[in-house]
Amino acid sequence: MKDSNFLKEHNARQFWHPMAHPADSMANPPTILTGGEGVYITDVDGHRSIDAVGGLWNVNLGYSCQPVKDAIAGQLDALPYYSTFRGTSNDKAIELAYLLADFFGPDGMTRSFFTSGGSDSIEIALKLARQYHRIRGEGARTKFISLDKGYHGTHFGGASVNGNAKFRNSYEPLMSGCYHIPGPYLYRNPFGTDDPAELARLSASMLERELAFQGANTVAAFIMEPVQGAGGVIPPHPSFMPMVRDICDKHGVLLIADEVITAFGRTGSETGSRHWGVQPDLMCTAKAITNGYFPFGAVMIADHVAAVFEDDDSGVASVDSGYTYSGHPVGAAAAVAAVEETMRLRPWENARDRGAELKAGLEVLAERYDHIGDVRGEGLMCAIELVSDRGKKTPVGKALPLVFQKAAYDDGVMIRVSGNNAIFSPPLIIDAGHVLKILSATETGLKAMAEAA
Ligand SMILES: *Cc1c(COP(=O)(O)O)cnc(C)c1O
Repeated sequence: MKDSNFLKEHNARQFWHPMAHPADSMANPPTILTGGEGVYITDVDGHRSIDAVGGLWNVNLGYSCQPVKDAIAGQLDALPYYSTFRGTSNDKAIELAYLLADFFGPDGMTRSFFTSGGSDSIEIALKLARQYHRIRGEGARTKFISLDKGYHGTHFGGASVNGNAKFRNSYEPLMSGCYHIPGPYLYRNPFGTDDPAELARLSASMLERELAFQGANTVAAFIMEPVQGAGGVIPPHPSFMPMVRDICDKHGVLLIADEVITAFGRTGSETGSRHWGVQPDLMCTAKAITNGYFPFGAVMIADHVAAVFEDDDSGVASVDSGYTYSGHPVGAAAAVAAVEETMRLRPWENARDRGAELKAGLEVLAERYDHIGDVRGEGLMCAIELVSDRGKKTPVGKALPLVFQKAAYDDGVMIRVSGNNAIFSPPLIIDAGHVLKILSATETGLKAMAEAA
């Protein structure tokens, strides 16, 4: 390995990072990771910390998941690559589709379309939604509706349904025909309500209103995350997604669940949709499907949607999209191992229990530290929203979250800050001791912020 100084210098000189100003890595050099074990990561200077980011919401089973490592190594020897285009397939991708039909069966989905990651899964789902209507003779249904604060990856389709201006403005014009409604973000909502059930009703009524305004028969699908992640961890009231399901059904609109974060246990249930008791029509997955060890994703297709494609004899139902790496045998082997390990360990149970401890601990800290304006969480996805004035809910500036992050890291826990949110998405295998350590490092970060303010 190159030495620490070489790596820091050349990271700044030659390497542009996602979601960052290219000159930023000079002023704020990133932490350079070189090792991972269990729920711990080690940086180039030998500093070890609990990874409360979980890679990027995806390393659900930690960094020492031997079955996934073995599957990848074994597959490299057997068949390192083959395509699934035009009359070819591979044994691992077939095995994976069979396994996913089992895992997602209770969600009503037994067909898979494989991709190279989350953004790719979103594009396929948007395309399949339009095509579904076209096959059924409703080709005018082309529009998409989504939630403010939603994050659906960074490709042009996903960016178009994305609900954060930050990921849109630099790349406009985006895809036409995409509209947004206010989501169930209680802490800052345009209705002035502080009742989550009422907000869920109001937000759902905005969907009804937008459908009426657009003409429901021009809308292909509504897309949402069961729990918004990158937007700042925003769990809706439990009534919200079921209401959305009913509205979509009433108007013939497909419901796409973006489960790139929530599938495979993070919310405390097997999937986010199941968590809320809803069966979507299309489900986008990626991230934890290989435990983060290989870029891979799957779009799951509800049986009744699949039937429309499979029963078509007019020829318009050919899926005219896909990726060189759709069904990559190494990725598929990694996913088979990760999903089998997930079904064996049932990490959603631990996510539920440890998530409750983490959220309760953050709520205790909120009583003692004025910088915490809001505490949110569902399972092992939690956030604290950092404010400089609680009464006015003024977001803290850019500098203080970095002070928070550095102090927590120096104290042994990697916590992600995004805007004025500190986000917690640790591996689902953390124990109660790790939760206590995450909370004590959070307190260290809050103290450092209070001193720096
Ligand atoms: C991460 C994420 C995506 C995009 O996935 P990539 O693998 O980064 O392309 C899409 N939707 C949600 C909800 C995500 O969290």
